Amino acid sequence: MRKINLKLKRFLNNSYSIYIGEGIFENRLQAEVSRLAPSKIAIVTDSNILKLYRDKIQKALPSAEVFSFSAGEAQKNMAVILELFSNLSSAGLDRHSLIIALGGGVTGDMTGFLSSIYLRGVPFIQVPTSLLAMVDSSIGGKTGVDTKEGKNLLGSFYQPKAVIMDTDFLKTLPEAEFTNGMAEIIKHALIKDKNYVKFLYENRESIRMLSEPFLTEMIARSCQIKAEVVQKDEKERSLRQILNFGHTIGHAIENAMNYAIPHGFAVAMGMIAEAALSVQRGILAEDDFEKIGKLIKDYGLLCFTDELKNMNEDSFFRSAKLDKKNKAGSIRVVMLKELGMVYHQGRNYSFSIENGEIKEALEKIIGVVENG
Ligand code: ADP
Ligand code: ZN
Repeated sequence: MRKINLKLKRFLNNSYSIYIGEGIFENRLQAEVSRLAPSKIAIVTDSNILKLYRDKIQKALPSAEVFSFSAGEAQKNMAVILELFSNLSSAGLDRHSLIIALGGGVTGDMTGFLSSIYLRGVPFIQVPTSLLAMVDSSIGGKTGVDTKEGKNLLGSFYQPKAVIMDTDFLKTLPEAEFTNGMAEIIKHALIKDKNYVKFLYENRESIRMLSEPFLTEMIARSCQIKAEVVQKDEKERSLRQILNFGHTIGHAIENAMNYAIPHGFAVAMGMIAEAALSVQRGILAEDDFEKIGKLIKDYGLLCFTDELKNMNEDSFFRSAKLDKKNKAGSIRVVMLKELGMVYHQGRNYSFSIENGEIKEALEKIIGVVENG
């Protein structure tokens, strides 16, 4: 089992550990429950996870009450929060109780948010079961729900008491969901660690087969990178921006396609475009760009390029300008200097880009598929 400690400067009592390993669910969860000694335990999960893991949950924590909602991003809304709130309230959960989020990013974001507002905040534990949730949404304390105005617009920063990642869960994860999570993993390597880029490239067969110890090693390295970044800049004022690599363009693609393609696949195309912008600006070498394209393609992340060709350009630029991370209507992206290193000027990690440059960069995505 691997253990990563997350220490948050301004909230020392909010420091916690992330545990990663094969088959650690039951023992680790029981250990955390003994440590926290809650008055009651509620597990919140989605319908898919409940169906697959009802017995496993029951065996690990027989005394816990389990509440579920229908799987899917469409359920990440206030109506479901209120429903879950009523369930917890009727079950008599108090401020000394524990809430456990068991599931993908939807479950984690929503349960984290509910935990942050239930009786003004009760302890919670994240047990992410999708690859995306393990390496991305379960670390860093962002919680929230979607509204008709947009995604994640209502939420809070709220840190869990522990995060438990059991790679056994990944065996039932649909392959496309695994691939979806790989985009953020590739992102971590590209922004922070050249050796990790090499690891991902050399072990791509083993990783796609879910072989240990590669799987645990990979998740641990990604969590370490994300934890380090979040630790230094919890509320995204400066360094945390590097985690947005591939996301300005990725989000705009997702949005222009009305969220018809999964997040990771959009971010993968966004990373290629933002790497291309870095080449266009003379910051990144052409052969590093080619390596990035090959890595992303080999992990099966470039299967929505036909949708990209048909994307409405006006809605793409409209969404890019509206991204909540941009300042004053300009489109800003994170750029790469080399494999494993972002470009920055002092504490500034994102740079304003013209529409014409972006059009050129979008063409390069198609180029990677057709020529590579
Ligand atoms: P995210 O991709 O952010 O984790 P979701 O929470 O919607 O988003 O999870 C993606 C999908 O994968 C959902 O349908 C969810 O029920 C399903 N899922 C998550 N973890 C597992 C798992 N270990 N086995 C099977 N399905 C899973
Ligand atoms: Zn992302």
